[in-house]
Amino acid sequence: MAGSLTLAGPLEAEGPVLEVIPLGGLGEFGMNMTAVSWGETLVLIDAGVMFPEPELLGVDLVIPDLTYLEQRPVKAAALVLTHGHEDHIGGVPHVLPLVDGPVYGTPLTLALLESKLEEHGIDPRPPLVPVAPRQKVQVGPLTIEFLRVTHSIPDAVAVAIETPAGTIVHTGDFKIDQTPLDGELFDFHRFAELGGRGVLALLADSTNIERPGVTGSEWDVVEAFEELFASTRGKLVVTSFATSIYRMQILVNLAKDFGRKVAFVGRGMVEQSQVAQRLGKLHVPAGLQIRETDVRGYPSRQVLCVTTGSQGEPMAALSRIAVDDHRHVSVGPEDRVVFSARAIPGNEKAIDRVVNHLARRGADVVTDGEKRVHVSGHGSEEELKMMLSLVRPRCFIPIHGEYRQRSRYARLAQRLLGAGGMQTLLAENGDVIRLDAGGGRIAGRVTTGRVLIDGPGTGEVADEVLRDRRHLAEDGLIVPVIAINKQTGAIEGVPDVITRGLVLEPDAEGLLREAGRLLADVLGQTSLEDRTDRGLVKERIRVELRRFFRKRSGRRPLVLPVIMEI
Ligand SMILES: [Zn+2]
Ligand SMILES: [Zn+2]
Repeated sequence: MAGSLTLAGPLEAEGPVLEVIPLGGLGEFGMNMTAVSWGETLVLIDAGVMFPEPELLGVDLVIPDLTYLEQRPVKAAALVLTHGHEDHIGGVPHVLPLVDGPVYGTPLTLALLESKLEEHGIDPRPPLVPVAPRQKVQVGPLTIEFLRVTHSIPDAVAVAIETPAGTIVHTGDFKIDQTPLDGELFDFHRFAELGGRGVLALLADSTNIERPGVTGSEWDVVEAFEELFASTRGKLVVTSFATSIYRMQILVNLAKDFGRKVAFVGRGMVEQSQVAQRLGKLHVPAGLQIRETDVRGYPSRQVLCVTTGSQGEPMAALSRIAVDDHRHVSVGPEDRVVFSARAIPGNEKAIDRVVNHLARRGADVVTDGEKRVHVSGHGSEEELKMMLSLVRPRCFIPIHGEYRQRSRYARLAQRLLGAGGMQTLLAENGDVIRLDAGGGRIAGRVTTGRVLIDGPGTGEVADEVLRDRRHLAEDGLIVPVIAINKQTGAIEGVPDVITRGLVLEPDAEGLLREAGRLLADVLGQTSLEDRTDRGLVKERIRVELRRFFRKRSGRRPLVLPVIMEI
């Protein structure tokens, strides 16, 4: 397949055909996006982002390459969202120009999307159409139905698309939580019904196929947290993803029982807890919640802070608390900080750094490994088997995972259903999968890949730029080299600034010297502890240099700081 590049023709001589094209989410975790088309009518399922690998420092987000959608004569007729996680909705602002139709999603998903569209200044808004489980919507010849699944965020659904060639089921992310906090049960019944009627293709989440047994309910963290609430003498700080609304609810309930006030800390946490409360997905008893500005006004033992920063993100609330640089929240001896999230691979070092700073403050730190303070949102082997036996598709296509996970799920499926003639297809991003009564085959390839997004975290929306790698090469690269004295933490000399592929007129050397002096100034003003935190230092350097070169050269080079300890 490699190398052969054919544009899938939506209209063939023999009439319209059914095609499924994974555009992202296969071969990586994140940036999930799948196109399903019948003739001219194309529907997109999810439009996610991926967080950049450490090698891509300076790049804020990664989204799938959109060339295929750009080159189609007709825009996508609808965008269908399965749930509100970033790896499913984070790319929506970038994909919307290629959609000429509504965006369908459950109320919570759309509410989370709405704040994102606001942040990006998207105007005019596309019609955002809320849907409920078991509801059907019509998009041209396609009938789209939503099925309730359970996951680590409320209001998650799978999608069934009825096409003239047969039905396609896309699970989105799921686990089978038999006791969901909100009582919204996994819709076994409807999955089985569809399976009974005949499903042409099933695309299913492979993430946790390597874990035996079942993943467990969101409730499973209660016991460990009860213990932590009971034994913490000072402030309790819990960090989690801002979308982990079930986790928030459990923490709120326990705070009430143990006589603590709750403060949501960090922009994402504050915003998303508000959205969830507004939609009735998070219930906080009256008088329990306090603002982060009020935290200092209460004795430590009466406070629970729920913060962002579980991945060690240098600018997140927890990182600031850890270096004692947060305006309203500090931690010290007697206090306890709990990481209630898994470390996304690649973030371990950043998290370690934050843990070390917290330890230096004297706080007790509890991570996922020590106590059951986190439970995954993805189903384990038994749940993935269950999905197969409910749906019993003609053709099975594992998605959401690297090759390793997907091939394992495919093998399992073969063992389970292969005898009945079920076919498994291990596709890659960009494979054009044609489906008909005979099953599925890979009929061609379209351009796929990654697009690097370098956007400011907040504000400055007009300055956000989309950049593919070619563009990146056009704007060049800046490598500031900073030497920090290991003993004293002092900056040694004036930082060197090296460039590649960047034309600076008229006085390049002068400009680079100036940039070096600017860095020396900025770093000179940071505290000693901040300076020993490489993540923080690098982020400050990136922000300063981006601003400097944008102003002085109109360029937006990628900034890759190198810090040497000498
Ligand atoms: Zn998810
Ligand atoms: Zn996901």
